[in-house]
Amino acid sequence: MRNMESVGLSRHRVRYESFGGILSSTDPPFLAWVDRTFLRDAGYEESPLWHTDDPGYLSAPTEAHFSITEKCSSGCAGCYMDSCGETAVDLSLEEVKAVLDTLRAMGVFHVALGGGEAFERPDFEDIAAYCREIGLVPNLTTNGQRMGDREIGICRMMGQVNVSLDGLESHYGVNGRAGSFERADQALRKLRAAGIAAGINCVVSVKNYSHIKDIAEYACTRGLAEIEFLKYKPSGRGKDRYPDFALSQEMIRSFYPRIQEIAASLPVEIKIDCSFIPAMMYHHPPLEELEKWAVAGCDGGNMLLGIRSSGVFSACSFISNNDAESALSLKTHWHTSAHLSRFRRWTQNPPEPCASCTYLTICRGGCRAVALYYNHDFSSPDPECPFVYDYMCCKGALK
Ligand code: SF4
Ligand code: SF4
Repeated sequence: MRNMESVGLSRHRVRYESFGGILSSTDPPFLAWVDRTFLRDAGYEESPLWHTDDPGYLSAPTEAHFSITEKCSSGCAGCYMDSCGETAVDLSLEEVKAVLDTLRAMGVFHVALGGGEAFERPDFEDIAAYCREIGLVPNLTTNGQRMGDREIGICRMMGQVNVSLDGLESHYGVNGRAGSFERADQALRKLRAAGIAAGINCVVSVKNYSHIKDIAEYACTRGLAEIEFLKYKPSGRGKDRYPDFALSQEMIRSFYPRIQEIAASLPVEIKIDCSFIPAMMYHHPPLEELEKWAVAGCDGGNMLLGIRSSGVFSACSFISNNDAESALSLKTHWHTSAHLSRFRRWTQNPPEPCASCTYLTICRGGCRAVALYYNHDFSSPDPECPFVYDYMCCKGALK
């Protein structure tokens, strides 16, 4: 019998799944998919889930992205949440706690707190503390425009804090206000000085594509834990500005070799988000390489869940749930929501060229937010995938 403590896992939790379970450790931090034999050997009792059919999705998300406020003073042109200033109406503290209780009861491990700008909620400290109290690991994405003693105190409760940064100095462009880069830079310096695990979220668009290596180099000079490159999405205000910000086909096709080159030359952990997976698959990477990047394609409504500041959940933060289902009812809705089901079932009847694509089970047809933007059709494949683009060109559907 394997004993978790004897292998150095003093702070861990297991959630049963039909295939076995998910092991979550906070020290060292990781999530691992383990089979039934592993759990039996570790002394865990049998789960009723081990005697049911695999439903094809997890018993709960592993991570929920919770926008705890719609409020944000930055006013960035491409904000994926369409966050704003004084008019925002958010859940009350008690309602936020009730949503967090629901997530904990379902067995969610991580909650990525964001907004809007989470620091603009006066009760953010109570929310962060409550996550820890009930055993959820909170992580934070912030614009880094304020990082005083209060904010550092809150950040100490986080597993990781990522500051949004899409360019350096005069290339910092998310809101274009004087001093914004300097404030984000100061925030990162303070986080590092306080010994808090910090990184950068860099939204990649046509505006900063030629600067992404500079941003990764900057992350190294600041001694940051990671930089995550996220594709600019047609969501919120970002939808209106998509023609101005979207990456070109040429950029999408050169993205993965460029990222490989950056990762090979710089000592910082590079991550890429789910919507970049078709850009990666275009280069036919071997399976071992995918494992190294720990990437998964569109996993909205399975590993991922988005929750808006209104309390409405959706399969991911970049998609709306037109049925406006409340996160307070997630324990039931997780299994019954038609919105979530459409995400999970997408690969069961995919259109070409995804149907014949070797990478379908990994990629899952690319980004639904991008497909909806271009085609107004949830069932269509991501037209920014180079394979899809070439297929559509052959069919004469693209000029
Ligand atoms: S729709 Fe899918 S691929 Fe796009 S951001 Fe959401 S989870 Fe990722
Ligand atoms: S063809 Fe479809 S499944 Fe294959 S990489 Fe492109 S979007 Fe993904």
